[in-house]
Amino acid sequence: MPLGEFELIDRFFRGRGAPRSDVPLGVGDDAALIECPPDRQLVAAIDTLVEGAHFPAGSPAASIGHRALAVNLSDLAAMGAEPAWALLALTLPRADERWLEEFSGGLAALADGFQVALVGGDTTSGPLCITIQILGTVERGTALTRRGGAPGEALYVSGTPGEAAAGLELELLRLAVPDVRAARHLRERFLFPTPRVALGRRLRGYATACIDVSDGLLGDAGKLARASGCGVELDYETLPVSRRLVEAVGAERARELALTGGDDYELLFSVPAPRIESLSRDLPAAEWCYTRIGTLRTEPGAIVTRNGSVIDFSHCGFDHFASVR
Ligand code: ADP
Ligand code: MG
Repeated sequence: MPLGEFELIDRFFRGRGAPRSDVPLGVGDDAALIECPPDRQLVAAIDTLVEGAHFPAGSPAASIGHRALAVNLSDLAAMGAEPAWALLALTLPRADERWLEEFSGGLAALADGFQVALVGGDTTSGPLCITIQILGTVERGTALTRRGGAPGEALYVSGTPGEAAAGLELELLRLAVPDVRAARHLRERFLFPTPRVALGRRLRGYATACIDVSDGLLGDAGKLARASGCGVELDYETLPVSRRLVEAVGAERARELALTGGDDYELLFSVPAPRIESLSRDLPAAEWCYTRIGTLRTEPGAIVTRNGSVIDFSHCGFDHFASVR
């Protein structure tokens, strides 16, 4: 007998994620009730993943569940917010129990890890599409935004961007990496990204502007700079590319992927000179994994320089460059 909508919600989604004492009423009623702390601001974001557009058709269901939540957690990380509650709008071609088991398991594991409760949603049939709305809170007046940067400030990125893009290439069979462990590592970086929530929380008080890197470092640096009313210069030589990525695609392509590949979900943030010392003392770069990669500047646009000359990335054919240059 096919799984009914009510049974499906009950089996896979009711009570999933972390239990939270601030949710007196979750999945099962017409809407959820949430107790909001009075001294904090509510932070809300929403993101949709469409099969074939945001992940390849036939991706592992656990990865789809993980990524649908991870991309939202990453948005809250970029705001310096603490995630708390999520709603899931799920459109499915059919109620495949094994798929649902894996999907909800991937989503719930990440939700548990970040103390997020799944408090509601909607379930419909149609082409596979997942929308999650995340809600969280931030201490009043302390949220990070894209807007607070200024010329002269240092720009940093967390982690090793470019790996997820190589992982997607591997998933699409457009890239072959003979080393099995390296290939697995790169694929995992696409399939199971880690949102930098703890770093985002800690950057409050140090960073003047912050954005999460979802569409490629160069494009997203341009967005941060533009929102801050300035431009940005990235230094090609300082890009933090991982050894595995270099071994897989070579040093030049690794930097190109670091600049233009998507799906990293790292944080990009600006820090004014007087705060750099306290940042590196309180959040040691080796422990928190971030690297200085450039500087905000007065001239608008995003440029990459190598040994003092500007290099052109327009050949990479990513549309979003057009919008930030
Ligand atoms: P309504 O018709 O009143 O909108 P639904 O029958 O769609 O209610 O949903 C019943 C309950 O299950 C609601 O509390 C809703 O938030 C929740 N819900 C529905 N689909 C999901 C889902 N995919 N994940 C989590 N909760 C869900
Ligand atoms: Mg109702």
